[in-house]
Amino acid sequence: MQLTVISITAMPFPLAYTASMTTFSKADRIAWLQGPSGHCDVVPDGSSAPWMLVLLGAPGVGKGTQAALLHERLGSCHLSTGDVFRHAGTRPECDQSPAMREAMAYMLRGELVPDSTVWELVRERKACLHCRGGFILDGFPRTLAQAESLQTLMVREGIALTAVVSYELPPAEIVARLAGRRTCEKCKAVYHVTERPPKSAGRCDHCDGKLFQREDDRPESVKVRLETYDRSTAPLISYYEKMGLLVRVAAIGTADEICARTIPELEPRRLKGFAEKLWVAAENRRDT
Ligand code: AMP
Repeated sequence: MQLTVISITAMPFPLAYTASMTTFSKADRIAWLQGPSGHCDVVPDGSSAPWMLVLLGAPGVGKGTQAALLHERLGSCHLSTGDVFRHAGTRPECDQSPAMREAMAYMLRGELVPDSTVWELVRERKACLHCRGGFILDGFPRTLAQAESLQTLMVREGIALTAVVSYELPPAEIVARLAGRRTCEKCKAVYHVTERPPKSAGRCDHCDGKLFQREDDRPESVKVRLETYDRSTAPLISYYEKMGLLVRVAAIGTADEICARTIPELEPRRLKGFAEKLWVAAENRRDT
């Protein structure tokens, strides 16, 4: 498309991001974790073309780790619906709404929380979709109904996704990853008992917090989560492919290798999105 040429010459920001070029302060995500009552103290730096990403992938492919790395390297805020549920679970029971208590029961069984509950939670946090640093949605959407609701909301809010990354891995590898995954109870850093062990057994390298196995990483929950993924979430791959947004990334190798493989795949998407914005702006100017 001719527009690509215009956008390259007019681009007001660096075309390529690398970890060494850009450093961002870690966003505290309070508005996302707490909902409308919470306000972020640390907001990502602004960008003229913030990344707006959705990460897809079966449980255990490392979406959460990739979201954290992408946040570090691209600056966009890491928005995980699973983190919202886990955060609610740390609050005293009297502070939890009945819907949130019900959601946590689904989560512990490895089942999906009903669409209506998840949508209510995302809808009331829609200001986070306007975060000046952009966003990385991790674990949402997980069903076609959620994807369609998100799409309708984004059109209404005048925002568009830059890309949807699908992390792909064979099922046997996924099961091995989930069984060995351990999380720090304090800083939430993620380890693996054989692939990425901590320096001192059972303790976090960063904050010395105790490592634990997530309830939903236990074998009975893992089986349900993988079946649920195939049935409910895998159809989103073709949904976003048809929209021209899908980027497939092999989730093999170290987390850094996977991230380094992801970013070059994303760059042309942002370029395309930016070109489209310029084109719409030029058309609007011509019409007035
Ligand atoms: P995650 O950390 O993304 O693996 O999410 C942990 C659990 O939270 C999932 O197994 C579900 O029970 C629940 N959950 C998180 N996000 C969603 C969603 N978008 N739709 C339904 N359930 C969700």
